[in-house]
Amino acid sequence: MNKLLVLCGLSASLLLAGCQSVNTTSGGAVGVERKQYMFSMLSSEEVNQMYAQSYTKTVGEATNKGVLDKTSSDAKRVQVIADRLIAQAPNFRPDAAQWKWEVNLIKSDELNANCGPGGKIFVYTGLIDSLKLTDDELAAVMGHEIAHALREHGREAMSKAYGMEMAKQGAGALLGLGQDSLALADAVANYGMTLPNSRSNENEADLIGLELAARAGYNPNAAITLWNKMSKASEGAPPEFLSTHPSSSSRTASLQAAIPKVMPLYNSAKK
Ligand SMILES: [Zn+2]
Repeated sequence: MNKLLVLCGLSASLLLAGCQSVNTTSGGAVGVERKQYMFSMLSSEEVNQMYAQSYTKTVGEATNKGVLDKTSSDAKRVQVIADRLIAQAPNFRPDAAQWKWEVNLIKSDELNANCGPGGKIFVYTGLIDSLKLTDDELAAVMGHEIAHALREHGREAMSKAYGMEMAKQGAGALLGLGQDSLALADAVANYGMTLPNSRSNENEADLIGLELAARAGYNPNAAITLWNKMSKASEGAPPEFLSTHPSSSSRTASLQAAIPKVMPLYNSAKK
């Protein structure tokens, strides 16, 4: 049984702001159907607002350091691929059409990419250069990142941390919650952004990312070559990307099994 669900059950009678089953995305051709539970008091809007501060800071710092790349051919490439993927996001959740998507390429040796809550994408040049990513592979990694945001894995992790914190504090503390909830929110915000994704979250991001890329006309087989390159790169020092997106031996098998499901989408997108 889902740990958070147990926590929700334990705390349900105490919490006015309860735990709800949330449908972030539809299952798609790849069939991602896991039920998600989140505290309703931690809404998507609140998470987006919390994240907005760190996002603005990161972009500001990159601008000041002169590492925000808006003009190179890679910057244009990343933008084009992002636009094509983003156009497919409403297939999984219609509200993504109204998200304020932003795409940034950062000049850095880091082998990394991420997509924060609400569609704030970062790609680091190190990832493209070191792994010599093709457009299809770049679409695979960006699709994976976008999928984390669509599934709101950050909010889910924060919600889980929230629940555990509440369970620790007990009923007495909960009665005075209103005032403290912001401080609590700040504390749990870290959980959503910095911890490694769980294996099930990784699998969901792989599958939805695979379908986004296929629908956008990028060859889904590139997901396999991408992860092969990634694991080869990890033979030295593991790339930053793998610390938040742990790989597992089952990853390529699961992707391989899903490719036939998205091939028809890729073939019709190419026409
Ligand atoms: Zn991931």
